[in-house]
Amino acid sequence: EIETLYCIGCGAQLQADDQQQAGYIPANTLAKYLKQSATQDLYCQRCFRLRHYNEVSQVPIEDAHFKHLLAKIGHEQALVVYVVDLFNFSGSVIQQLKRYIGNNPVLLVGNKADLIPSSFNRNKLKNWLQHQAKILGLQPLDIELVSAKKLTNIDQLLVKISQLRKNRDVYVVGTTNVGKSTLINAIIRSHSGWQDLITTSNFPGTTLNEIRLPLADGGELIDTPGIVHKNQISQFLSRKELKYIAPQSEIHPRIFQLQAQQTLFLAGLARLDFISGPAGSFVVYVDNNLYVHRTKLQQADEFYQKHLGELLTPPVSAETFPPLQSQTITTKEKSDIVFSGLGWIAVPEQVQVKAYLPQGLQIEVRSSLI
Ligand code: GDP
Repeated sequence: EIETLYCIGCGAQLQADDQQQAGYIPANTLAKYLKQSATQDLYCQRCFRLRHYNEVSQVPIEDAHFKHLLAKIGHEQALVVYVVDLFNFSGSVIQQLKRYIGNNPVLLVGNKADLIPSSFNRNKLKNWLQHQAKILGLQPLDIELVSAKKLTNIDQLLVKISQLRKNRDVYVVGTTNVGKSTLINAIIRSHSGWQDLITTSNFPGTTLNEIRLPLADGGELIDTPGIVHKNQISQFLSRKELKYIAPQSEIHPRIFQLQAQQTLFLAGLARLDFISGPAGSFVVYVDNNLYVHRTKLQQADEFYQKHLGELLTPPVSAETFPPLQSQTITTKEKSDIVFSGLGWIAVPEQVQVKAYLPQGLQIEVRSSLI
């Protein structure tokens, strides 16, 4: 019977099996409506929350569909607000974004600024983002650093959007997990700064793929779905395990004075061997609660075998976790070895290191953020 029911808000086929997918409705809610034969009023949970709590949530979509939606932007006059995760920039990259959005202007938003140690100079952080954008072929009109969660700089962002959009529609784009939903919710709830950005009292029908929010002075703010970024450690971890790697508050750098032939383990998820070079500081930027273990390189393999899933956890199980695979890196300058989704380790200049991640994941090297 459920096969034939559709959400009247977004048109998605209703289903009670998977909360993460489109059209989800809790089974007991559905049963209640069925009993009353009131199925013409049925909303999926996502539309229900949007209508009643002004709360946005997203469902992931297929790659091809995502690109199709993005390509649409290129044919319109729009301001593109591109949201990235400052803690996980490589996981925020939308390949060929420029190609899809055409010549539309971009406002780059670095979210989760609350995680970046306060010792980091914010202007340098902006310059760094600017540089990263350039590598992606983007020339953002401006860059804002915000925290959707802590509501930092949200009003400033709204003012910036209103200045830059010049009556155009505003598309908000980003990969999943950059905090786009949190940001849209913060925008909806913002009552200072630019008060009437969104007339929340009346949402027009949402579509399955986009949430269109009317702007007070005409036009719309369109929340597009996120795409799941591949090449992320998250794909090997359960929801529970993910909680251990996603930082919740400002990262406190952990400094290790290392000599050559020493190894650091980031729980059981990643590893860094200091092969050769002068002794120096290695600074670890990961979730404050993630266990970092230092050992001698000589016994590191054996240690990993023995303690994976126990002392070195997450992962919680050694069985289902893919083997680590290494890459040798020689630094010229002070560099960050980036373990995508997990964080990074700042290493000194002129050293040779071996960095490990689960098979199939790419390690990145960048000139040091600080
Ligand atoms: P979306 O997939 O891009 O819509 O991302 P969500 O809004 O669902 O957020 C993904 C995760 O990032 C959630 O665990 C959020 O709590 C977290 N998050 C979102 N914004 C921030 C932020 O500004 N700071 C921090 N520390 N976490 C955030």
